Amino acid sequence: MTGFLADLVLQSQSLPRLFANLCDPYSLLPLVSRPPCFNKRPNATPPASTRGLYVGWVCALPVELAAAQEMLDEEHEGLEQDGHDTNIYSLGKVGQHNIVIACLPEGQTGTNSTAAVAVQIKSAFTSIRFSLIVGIGGGVPSEEVDMRLGDVVISRPLNVHGGVVQYDSGKATPSGFQRTGSLNTPPTILLNAVANLRANHFRGRSRLSEFLSKLNGLPGFAREAAGLDILFETEYNHEGGATCGKCNKDRLVSREPRVQEVVLHYGTVASGNQVMRDGAERDRVSTELGGVLCFEMEAAGLMNSFPCLVIRGICDYADSHKNKKWQPYAAGTAAACAKEVLSVIPPSEVAKADTVEETIKGAGGVSNKWNNHDSKIGEQVGTKTVQGNQSITL
Ligand SMILES: [Zn+2]
Repeated sequence: MTGFLADLVLQSQSLPRLFANLCDPYSLLPLVSRPPCFNKRPNATPPASTRGLYVGWVCALPVELAAAQEMLDEEHEGLEQDGHDTNIYSLGKVGQHNIVIACLPEGQTGTNSTAAVAVQIKSAFTSIRFSLIVGIGGGVPSEEVDMRLGDVVISRPLNVHGGVVQYDSGKATPSGFQRTGSLNTPPTILLNAVANLRANHFRGRSRLSEFLSKLNGLPGFAREAAGLDILFETEYNHEGGATCGKCNKDRLVSREPRVQEVVLHYGTVASGNQVMRDGAERDRVSTELGGVLCFEMEAAGLMNSFPCLVIRGICDYADSHKNKKWQPYAAGTAAACAKEVLSVIPPSEVAKADTVEETIKGAGGVSNKWNNHDSKIGEQVGTKTVQGNQSITL
């Protein structure tokens, strides 16, 4: 073999690879950019450092992963991964953004699992700028916030908090429980996106229904499949069983029907390693923190090592009556909201933003703020209510 064919064999290393290359015109034209949808073969994958610009999308449950995948406008084949990378990535596009979705392993939840998944994303996609954490959460209804199931909570800085508080991390002191450590705010690009999203909603230009309709072909995600949205008094505990069939309907909180099906709420998200399922404890922690909108179990694992925004669809009220019936619909509203957030971010702005590593280095390390948010380490929150990471009564 001589000339062109010999060179090709040399480049391809093996005959099977040669055949694959002959089937792939982009392999023979190094100066022609390869469209992402052409990456059908694992060995067609470019090195990690040249994998282009991706936005991360992290979820914890299969139902959240399914909702996320349904929001993709294009789905791409998986990329070749390093041997030690145990994540399974779903790749595709939302609008003009390349998206990499990663889900926590089945049965694993909590901040540590989330942190482990994030480390691998950063390693595999070195140019990544930020991530969205998208899924379900337990809502906190209050006099100030008319929280309903299916509503969406988006983290944003409020008062002394950066958007997410790890409520179960701290130490007991003679003067009460001291919450230690603080979490970063979302990066400016995401806060700008939230501001534009809110402006669109003020102007009646929400695209939430449009994006939510992508789930119309999946009856399991329908609002009708979720059942009634009922809220019991804070102090009234569940009587037992899988549903609230035995619970006293006289203890229901009377609420006016609401015209708007899904409302977006912006504020503080409480993150911890335990499931919150106690109405009284929910309200107590919320009061101590100056008012939180929802409880969840992943965000605290990411906020200080990965610039991100938390988007939670409300599937229960974080009380003893919680069940899973609203999870698919709430996962859907959160995913649709995430897609709407992405729709207001120009891809050129993503390109200009710092990478995750640059952001962390620029902040002087993972323990410092990257967005000029007042860190206030060791915030006093009054009476001792929690100890370490094992605090919340289940
Ligand atoms: Zn009940």
